[in-house]
Amino acid sequence: MKHTSLGGGTVQFHLNGFEPGDPEIADLCERYPESGAQGPVPGQVDVLIVGSGPSGLTLAAQLSAFPDIKACIVEQKPGRMLLGQADGIACRTMEMFHAFNFSERVLKEACWINETTFWKPDHKNPANIARSSWIQDVEDGLSEFPHVVLNQARVHDFYLDVMRRSAAKMEPYYARRVVSVQPAARGRERAMVRLERLDSAHQGQSETVSARYVVGCDGARSTVRTSIGRELRGDSANHAWGVMDVLAVTNFPDIRCKSLIQSAHEGSILIIPREGGYLVRFYVEIANLGVGERVASRNITLDAVIAKARRILNPFALEVKEVAWWSVYEIGQRLADKFDDVPEEEVATRLPSVFITGDACHTHSPKAGQGMNVSMQDAFNLGWKLIAVLQKRCMPSLLHSYSAERRAVARELIDFDREWAALLATTHGDGADPAKTQEYFIRHGRYTAGTATHYRPSILTGPPDYQHLAEGFVIGKRFHSAPVIRLADGKPFHLGHVVKADARFRIFAFAGAGDPVASVIRRLCDFLAGSAESPVRKYTRSGDDIDAVIDVRAVFPQAHRELVLEAMPPMLLPLKGKYGLHDYEKMFCPDLRGGQDIFAMRGIDRQAGCMVVVRPDQYVAHVLPLDGYRQLSSYFDGFMLPG
Ligand SMILES: Cc1cc2nc3c(=O)[nH]c(=O)nc-3n(C[C@H](O)[C@H](O)[C@H](O)COP(=O)(O)OP(=O)(O)OC[C@H]3O[C@@H](n4cnc5c(N)ncnc54)[C@H](O)[C@@H]3O)c2cc1C
Repeated sequence: MKHTSLGGGTVQFHLNGFEPGDPEIADLCERYPESGAQGPVPGQVDVLIVGSGPSGLTLAAQLSAFPDIKACIVEQKPGRMLLGQADGIACRTMEMFHAFNFSERVLKEACWINETTFWKPDHKNPANIARSSWIQDVEDGLSEFPHVVLNQARVHDFYLDVMRRSAAKMEPYYARRVVSVQPAARGRERAMVRLERLDSAHQGQSETVSARYVVGCDGARSTVRTSIGRELRGDSANHAWGVMDVLAVTNFPDIRCKSLIQSAHEGSILIIPREGGYLVRFYVEIANLGVGERVASRNITLDAVIAKARRILNPFALEVKEVAWWSVYEIGQRLADKFDDVPEEEVATRLPSVFITGDACHTHSPKAGQGMNVSMQDAFNLGWKLIAVLQKRCMPSLLHSYSAERRAVARELIDFDREWAALLATTHGDGADPAKTQEYFIRHGRYTAGTATHYRPSILTGPPDYQHLAEGFVIGKRFHSAPVIRLADGKPFHLGHVVKADARFRIFAFAGAGDPVASVIRRLCDFLAGSAESPVRKYTRSGDDIDAVIDVRAVFPQAHRELVLEAMPPMLLPLKGKYGLHDYEKMFCPDLRGGQDIFAMRGIDRQAGCMVVVRPDQYVAHVLPLDGYRQLSSYFDGFMLPG
């Protein structure tokens, strides 16, 4: 699938030097507005989020849409991030950004990664590098979104905007360091957190917060993780890489492509073109660290990183004009044994009150671009569960599924990442050859795109008994969107884009062959709207809109002009809000004019149709026959509480 229709990636900036913040604001002074919540942190909250990195902000943005939930985010830094750290945004992350309504801003500002090139020692003169090949970066049809690159700081800005404009109007409390966390215990329902103020006006003062749930999004050196007695474990085969964001002049021809360069004797470079058209990131292999060795002991300087980059790039020249940010980044693939405070043997008898997400529970090399992406997906997985439990819509035991699901994902990614980092770090021709690197890169493209995550059967993920009804909506994988036409107004649309970060479940009913007016869809709608066994009836509170908890949508196989809107079941034209207005956005048809038939694209049984249940974090929970009422009810009964 081509992404050209999405536009974007065309804005140029940083020509005369790097400037952080929103490039569309001409006045540099206005790019750094005052931000951060004022006054003391609240003494009692439902959720305390520790750390305003990508995972903390994803969680905060999700919770901020629910003003009935009292959430607070604290950060030890004095203000928002302006530059540095991660920059790769996987296709899957873009899908999630769409749920938060800022994918368009990212598409416009980011650099799109279209091609990856591979360079190896020139066989005629191994002291020089030569291009060995290039490949398309993301396979066709993997996602409607491209793989893009944008400074982590800008991702933070977009989340901060979502929070600021939200119903809860949330802002981080800066200059607060969490010093200790006491999880809830028998006899004490809430976790207790002690914070230290770091700003000069309040230095040395401490604050105490009592929280129903504490989420440690506080990075690789997490205090929250230590407080619950968990540690990151992994191999000690660390690699040290110099990373620098530069404005430079070079005759290396692939400087605007993602390029993997393996030299004969000087090591490897990964080049990442960056937003704005001029900025470039270099990851430069510096050293393999010994067991227990920290990179700081090597006293690596920026000049040494630039010099190494020049040697690897030989025979091409590199003249660095400005370094916007640089760091020496040491990599270990490490994983915590559990992502909450409940020991495995107590899962049946205790509920978690403290969670850890992102780098606090797993670390990756930056080469596969996983750190920031996986961290945000952790928070997206946890967010809706916390909301559903705090709103008493789901059983609190659902919270155990966070650690179970996300640890399995992190484990798999770390295995992949370890192999990948080792492959890239191999130098002097004594290990992997470039052809192997390239082959591995292609095979694992789905990991790097973030679309390989596959949750195994559990209370949230149904068994594959009816998978054959929709082969392309794999149970446990993310809902793979496809183009459709909205019935009521003929608007071309992406079906997956109806799944917003609003903590609701979706049921997509794909109609089978036959007249839709008298079809099984109508009987399904009658069941969902009227039966006492219907999960929609059972779990929606009286007075709430019919789609407040479970949002039912239908997709018909016919062209949109062949259907009669007014003859459709009332469930698909629900009356909502204080005036009882019709919601016209529940029905879709294939985009036949565009030659893209969702039924064919996603392997949906045209005769039988099916139901696809989608979780609030966009993963396919179940595929069922259209008359699978009993299975549908028992799926939701497994973890939901009556409204
Ligand atoms: C210096 C550095 C360079 C990096 N470079 C790259 C890179 O080049 N490429 C790449 O892919 N990834 C890189 N990463 C990793 C990437 O940034 C992370 O994978 C990603 O940010 C993880 O997100 P997170 O929200 O889990 O944690 P983080 O982004 O680490 O956020 C944690 C936040 O918690 C705050 N915090 C920590 N302790 C406390 C406390 N006790 N109280 C209050 N607040 C606290 C921190 O200040 C921080 O803002 C880098 C990370 C670092 C630290």
